[in-house]
Amino acid sequence: MTSPSMLRFLGGFRRFLLLLTALLSAAGSRTDAAPSKPNILFILSDDHAAQAISAYGSPWNKTPGLDRLAREGMRLDRCYAVNSICTPSRASILTGQYSHRNGVPVFNNLDPSATTVAHRLRQAGYHTAMLGKWHLGSEPQGFDEWNILPGQGRYQDPVFYDRDGHRIYRGHVSDVTTDLAIRMLEKRPKDKPFFLMCHHKAPHRNWSPAERHRLQFAGEEIAEPATLRDDYRGRSDALRQQRQSVFRDLTRRDLKLVPPTDLPAKGVGAWLDEVPDEVVVPSATGPLTLRGEALDRWKYQRYMQDYLACVQGVDDGVGRLLDWLDSQGLRENTVVIYTSDQGFFLGEHGLYDKRFMYEPSIRMPFLIRWPGVIVAGSTSEALSINCDFAPTFLEMAGAPAAPEMQGRSLVPILKGRRPADWRSGFYYRYYHDPGHHDTRAHYGIRTDTHKLIHYWKLDQWEMYDLVADPQEMTNRVTDPSMAAVLTDLKSRLVAERQRLGDTNQFANLLPRDTVDQRPKQMDRKHPDSEL
Ligand code: CA
Repeated sequence: MTSPSMLRFLGGFRRFLLLLTALLSAAGSRTDAAPSKPNILFILSDDHAAQAISAYGSPWNKTPGLDRLAREGMRLDRCYAVNSICTPSRASILTGQYSHRNGVPVFNNLDPSATTVAHRLRQAGYHTAMLGKWHLGSEPQGFDEWNILPGQGRYQDPVFYDRDGHRIYRGHVSDVTTDLAIRMLEKRPKDKPFFLMCHHKAPHRNWSPAERHRLQFAGEEIAEPATLRDDYRGRSDALRQQRQSVFRDLTRRDLKLVPPTDLPAKGVGAWLDEVPDEVVVPSATGPLTLRGEALDRWKYQRYMQDYLACVQGVDDGVGRLLDWLDSQGLRENTVVIYTSDQGFFLGEHGLYDKRFMYEPSIRMPFLIRWPGVIVAGSTSEALSINCDFAPTFLEMAGAPAAPEMQGRSLVPILKGRRPADWRSGFYYRYYHDPGHHDTRAHYGIRTDTHKLIHYWKLDQWEMYDLVADPQEMTNRVTDPSMAAVLTDLKSRLVAERQRLGDTNQFANLLPRDTVDQRPKQMDRKHPDSEL
């Protein structure tokens, strides 16, 4: 039984097993363990809807830079803002907290003493940097360096501020932001991992693209979304009261109409701020006056042409940053994230802008590349929220979890392992009422399959079956067959509000004149900023 040949065979088999174990272990370490303290490049744009990215199936545009990120990383299909408006979403990203907890429900300043993910990453040994649109009033804290736009910033020849003062940069803001990001990274201390927040202004209103993209979509018939002419039947009064309608609220300024030459100079601003009820356009047979439905169709095309052209400029910038990482040998040890502070209505429900809890508004694009950890070309439908980003970055950095953060690290999701106790719903709340677009305040819960919205000032409810009705056109709140679902959603909503500590502390704080407390310090420095 134990002949020399048998012993030789067993010895060889043992060596084979050891080799196999070593190979499997090495393979495992390549897919499971992040390299120690990866660099984190976080690219945020402003108001970029996922449906305007070809990796998300856009019917309108091609975004090769972003598609590359999706191809080489993961695409999150259900990532959401918990308060769909610029400043609050940025505060949630930085603090990992809901608006009622971080104190930024509307356009108020982020408390400069708040601990953010930047503070914690710096403690963990990172070089931390912030570039571009900040829009949180107080000066950035927790960053080793920062260079930001005042308020909303300008599209052309933007001003940037840092600790030493301000400077005007010639060119389009999307290109300047990318140039400055590369310059910042080139000059960074090389003995530390970096965390750079690169925040684009585009494609925020008033959608002013770089000249090279300005006419890119001008000759195309941009497909109208199926819900563009939504009549709001069966829905709450909030949809009838809003002023963010493509047809009723886009101004001459938004539509890039040119004032007549005989207009007195002091009347130009007022003329541009009006909503036109007729527009004269050139045609093969001479000037053509558009009214009614023809004007509505034209307005949608005009809106989308500029919006999509702005997206192309951001996409160019993402492509350039990815190329730069390659050129520096930084690809393998840098996590690259692309997202937007919220989604945007691109005509769905007849709307532009965001705010409402409907999918096009709250859904954020989220593309992430993390070589060695994320399987290239993967996707996830796990419900994620902007409060998750900060805990995710901390786990990537090997830093301890921050107890004040209300989100949850996405790292297991990114590794393709959705924990059994992952959330099956999340809480949403919008406060800015009265606000710029008369969007009524509301809160609600979105689960994997349903959505319940309460417009609390109207005391009206909407409920949607997102599986049967993904476009949210049929309010089921009075449907007897849905009574049990409604009861369940209401109890989950109450439980989530309690769990998160929302005790209505900001429910009545928002008269219009206190909402617009702009970043006064930066206003003084630069009065001609577009705020
Ligand atoms: Ca925004």
